[in-house]
Amino acid sequence: MRIYVDQLDCTGAGQCEQLAPDVFALLDDGLATVRDADGEPMADGGAPSGAVVDASRTARVLDAIDVCPGACIRRLPD
Ligand code: SF4
Repeated sequence: MRIYVDQLDCTGAGQCEQLAPDVFALLDDGLATVRDADGEPMADGGAPSGAVVDASRTARVLDAIDVCPGACIRRLPD
């Protein structure tokens, strides 16, 4: 699975980072993004390419997608 955050709709409430801090990062500007393979926050929420989510993190990422109040964690085709 690959994901990115559509920052236009991000409310900055941070549930994604609380559930999966190894996948998401809440930035100083109050918007979330995804982390790259080195754990560094990606520019533009990781759009358009997205960050790869490995199997060990998938369940927590799906939980984050479910609770995201902005419905802005986008899933890309594998
Ligand atoms: S849960 Fe959704 S709306 Fe909230 S900070 Fe994360 S991406 Fe943004």
